[in-house]
Amino acid sequence: MERGQVVIIGGGVIGSAIAYFLAVHPQFAGKITVLERDPTYAQASSALSASSIRQQFSTPVNIAISQYGFEFLRHIDRYLAVDGQAPDIGLVERAYLYLASAAGVADLRANHTMQTAHGVQTALLDPDGLRQRFPWLTTDDLALGSLGLQGEGWFDGYGLLMAFRQKARSLGVQYLQAEAQGLVHDGQRVSAVRLGDGRQIACDWAVNAAGAWARHVMQDTGFELPVYGRRRCVFVVSSPAQTPDCPLVIDPSGLWFRPEGAYWLCGLPPAQDDNDVPLEVDYAQFEQAWEILASRVSGFEALRMQRAWAGYYEYNEFDQNAILGPHPVLANLLLANGFSGHGLQQSPAVGRGIAEWLVEGQSHSLDLSALSAQRIRNNQPLLERNII
Ligand SMILES: Cc1cc2nc3c(=O)[nH]c(=O)nc-3n(C[C@H](O)[C@H](O)[C@H](O)COP(=O)(O)OP(=O)(O)OC[C@H]3O[C@@H](n4cnc5c(N)ncnc54)[C@H](O)[C@@H]3O)c2cc1C
Repeated sequence: MERGQVVIIGGGVIGSAIAYFLAVHPQFAGKITVLERDPTYAQASSALSASSIRQQFSTPVNIAISQYGFEFLRHIDRYLAVDGQAPDIGLVERAYLYLASAAGVADLRANHTMQTAHGVQTALLDPDGLRQRFPWLTTDDLALGSLGLQGEGWFDGYGLLMAFRQKARSLGVQYLQAEAQGLVHDGQRVSAVRLGDGRQIACDWAVNAAGAWARHVMQDTGFELPVYGRRRCVFVVSSPAQTPDCPLVIDPSGLWFRPEGAYWLCGLPPAQDDNDVPLEVDYAQFEQAWEILASRVSGFEALRMQRAWAGYYEYNEFDQNAILGPHPVLANLLLANGFSGHGLQQSPAVGRGIAEWLVEGQSHSLDLSALSAQRIRNNQPLLERNII
């Protein structure tokens, strides 16, 4: 039996952000152990992400989470510098542009009203406005666009994970290469985390930050986590097309694209979205993406795929939102799961919130209670309409 007061299962961006915020919490003086089975992060979502951040959500709590996330990323040197060396996460401040055909106008307008009330600055553009701003965009079938005016962009997601991890380690957090297999508990409290090699690590608190695999460590805990790995493919393409000031564009079809250096990244939700399929690129999706891209941007007919990868959304089937805070049955188990494609940008607010929960019994800087697991037990979904 080894002793680790707080044991965090999963050392991706979420587990590492929690470890960091806990280590710097002025009222915390305990030991923090992060269990990470694969320090190369070969399949971790944090290393396979499109790493973008937006304010344009449809639920107030997600907006507030990203507002803090953006401020954190902007001033990352204040938080995550180690020995005076600030991490470089290559933050590009650039808008998201949501496009709608006639069928999507009501949603876009409703989101705009709600977002404005929560301090998000966006401009609604009609097809003329869209053409003036982005002459390379084909707007024939469009009725409206919503362009972010601040607090959006993209960054190096793997760089953010490494920055949290390195800072946490510099503050004394122990990363242990080990696989958690389950939890030892008496129906009320967790007393230890069971490892694959037969060892147990005793804990006062356990945190589940195991990404797309989170439900495996939760068996026999009296609460079934509705989180599954849903494969998403990202294609890197080149083209002679010119798209000056290109935002991250979300087409009415669900396809997204954004510039990345001399290239563009793109992806789209799969027609059939099965759980836990192997992480192999589905090249058939590129055919579909190419057709949409060619019809949306003049010049994208000439498109060449340079490379592609696949990663998991840790998809919350219940309502596509994070599940944060205490486990409904085991009082000293905290959950940080189900981010459904927006966990990288949420990592600063989630890390801070879970650390506060551990030390203070609540997330006081930002009220995250709307995302508690209790909503699942009460069958009260918090639906996020803007899932990409
Ligand atoms: C293609 C794609 C595009 C995305 N685009 C965006 C985006 O634009 N913006 C955004 O904010 N988010 C985006 N996301 C989502 C984002 O990447 C994730 O929400 C985030 O990385 C989740 O972090 P995590 O730490 O929870 O999970 P992970 O990074 O997967 O980390 C979980 C870790 O737990 C470890 N682990 C699992 N089980 C165990 C166990 N039993 N014992 C020990 N270790 C274990 C795993 O090895 C892994 O390293 C995207 C994701 C994908 C796949």
